[in-house]
Amino acid sequence: MRQSTLFTKTLKNPPADEISLNSRLLIRGGFIDKTMAGVYTFLPLGWRVLRKIEQIIREEMDAIGGREVLMPSLSPRWPWETTGRLEEVDVLFAVSGANEASRTKNSSEYILNSTHEEIVTPLVQKYISGYKDLPTAVYQIQTKFRNEPRPKSGLLRGREFRMKDLYSFHKDEEDLRRFYDLSKEAYWKICERLDIKEDTYIVLASGGDFTKDYSHEFQTKCETGEDLIFRDPVSGICYNREIAPVKAPAVQSFEDKKELQKVHTPGLKTVDQLVEFLGGSTKKTVKTLLYQNNDSKVIAVALRGDRQIDEEKLTKAAGENGLELAGPELIKEKTGADVGYAGLIGLPDDIDVYLDDSLQGLVNFEMGGNETDYHYTNVNFGRDIPEPDKFYDLKTAEAGDICPESGKEYETFKASEVGNIFPLNIKFSKSFNYYYNDENGEKKIVYMGSYGFGPSRVMGVLAEKFSDDRGLVWPEQVAPFKVHLLQLPDKTGEAKEKSEELYKKLVQKGVEVLYDDRPDIQAGEKFADADLIGCPYRVVVSSRTIKEGKAEVKKRGEKEAEMVEVEDLIKNS
Ligand code: ATP
Ligand code: MG
Repeated sequence: MRQSTLFTKTLKNPPADEISLNSRLLIRGGFIDKTMAGVYTFLPLGWRVLRKIEQIIREEMDAIGGREVLMPSLSPRWPWETTGRLEEVDVLFAVSGANEASRTKNSSEYILNSTHEEIVTPLVQKYISGYKDLPTAVYQIQTKFRNEPRPKSGLLRGREFRMKDLYSFHKDEEDLRRFYDLSKEAYWKICERLDIKEDTYIVLASGGDFTKDYSHEFQTKCETGEDLIFRDPVSGICYNREIAPVKAPAVQSFEDKKELQKVHTPGLKTVDQLVEFLGGSTKKTVKTLLYQNNDSKVIAVALRGDRQIDEEKLTKAAGENGLELAGPELIKEKTGADVGYAGLIGLPDDIDVYLDDSLQGLVNFEMGGNETDYHYTNVNFGRDIPEPDKFYDLKTAEAGDICPESGKEYETFKASEVGNIFPLNIKFSKSFNYYYNDENGEKKIVYMGSYGFGPSRVMGVLAEKFSDDRGLVWPEQVAPFKVHLLQLPDKTGEAKEKSEELYKKLVQKGVEVLYDDRPDIQAGEKFADADLIGCPYRVVVSSRTIKEGKAEVKKRGEKEAEMVEVEDLIKNS
C-alpha cells in the first residue's frame, strides 16, 4: 500500500484525555480513532491488524470443528426475558427509534446484544433435536455492545468491541467437559500464535450464575489490565481477585483484655473517622454490615476495619441468593441505630452472624455500639461476644495476603482477560426447553458451553506489550505490513525509481509492503513514522544505498541496520 494514498496521518501528540498506553500509541500511529469514550474506528492500518488477529482465532476455532456464522447485533426482547437476563445483565443496551418520525414508523425497542446465548440457543434448537447431530459448535466474530461504566483503558474496554464467541452443544456433561478441554488447547494455540503465551495464565474465576463450577479466564500480564491475579507460588494455581481464597496476615497482640467501654462518637460513621477520633489503627476496628436476602432474612457480617467485603464469597458462605446490603430502615429496626453504628453486641438472636477470619486473634477492638452515635472499645471474643465456632473467608483479596492452601504469600500481578470459557451446563437449555431425543428415544436436556475471546482487547494488549519509547513493535503475524519501504528524497530521482521498482517486485512476490512514497516528507519524519507504526522490517532506499545497488534493512526493535543487495532482498523476502 502506498502511504501517499492513506487518508490517515500519524500524530505527534495523542489526545490528552487518552490515558492508556495502547490507545495513545494506536491513535498516534493512525491505527484507531476515538469517536467517544469506549468507541473507536479501526483505520486502514488498525483494521489490517484486527483482521489478522481475527483470522488466527478463526483458524483455531475451525480446527476444533466450530462452524462460523454471523448472528445479528439487534435482537428482540423475548429471548432475554425468557432467560431473565433482561433484568440481570447490568451492561445491557436497548435501542429504539431516535425521533418521533422514526418511532411512529416502528415503536419497538430492541436489545443490542452484549453476548449471544439468547440468540444461539433458539437458533441451534431449530435445527438439532436428535442425538446423532450432537455435539455441535457454532461461533462468530462480531461486534458486541456493553454499557461499561467508565471505559478508560482504550481497546481493553470498549462500549462497542469485537468478540469471538463460540457456543457448544452436547448430549451430556462428560461430552461438554471433553470439548471444554479441547477449547482450552485451542486458546493456548491462539495465545502462542499471538506471542502472548508466556505471559498468559489460566485463572479460576466465578462461573457466574451459570454453574457452581469455576469458569476459566485467560489472563495476560499487562500494566493497563484491569484484573488483579493471585498466584499461589507453590501450586501455580491462579485465582481472579473476586474468588481468591485468602488469609489476611494476622494482627499479633499480647495485650491483656481491657475493660469494655461505650464511647460517645457523635457523627462518626466510617472506620477512618473513628480511628482518627479514637487514635489507634484500622486493624483494631471491626466493621459490621447487615445484609438481607430475597425473603428479607437479615444476616450480619463482620470483618476487620482495613478489609473490604467480597459479596461473591459471602453469597457462597451464607448460601443465600439475592443478598444485598440492608437499607437504613431495616438497620434501624434490627440494631436500633442509624447506619454506621452496627455492631455485634446485643444483636437480635434471629440474625445469623458471619465472621471473617481477619478477626481471628484480635483483642481490645472497636466496633459499633448498636446505638446511634456510640461505639464500643476494648471488645473481646469470649467475654463480650461469643467465641465463634467458625471463621469464614469473606474479604476481598489484597496484595500481601496468604494462600490458605500453601500458607505462602500470593504473587499478584495485573492482567487483562483476553478470553473466558464457561461450562454453561443446562442454564440456557432449561430456559428455552431445549431437549434432544437420545438413542432410546428418550428426551434429554442439552448441555452447553460458551467460549469468548476478545480480538480488539487483545489488539490493545499486544500494543501495550510490543512497544517501546518510539512506538509499536508488532509481531510479524499481526503486523499491518511485513515491510515498511521508505523512499528517501533524492535530487536525481534515481532512488525514487529504484524504490518504485523494489515496491512492485515485492508486491508481485506477495510481500505485504507499506511504501512510504510521500514526496515532500523529510527522512527524519519518515524514520520516526516507521518506528511509530512498527512494521517488522524497515527497508530504506536512498541515493546513498543505491550507489552500491543496495538497500538498508533494519529490524524494528533492533539497533543495527544491514546493507543488502536489492536482488537478494527480493529473492529472500
Ligand atoms: P470483563 O470482566 O473484563 O468485563 P467479561 O468477563 O465481562 O470481561 P466476557 O463476557 O467473558 O467478558 O467476554 C469474553 C471476552 O470478550 C473477554 O474475555 C474479553 O476478551 C472480551 N471483552 C469483554 N468485555 C469487553 C470490553 N468491554 N471491551 C473489549 N473486550 C471485551
Ligand atoms: Mg469474562
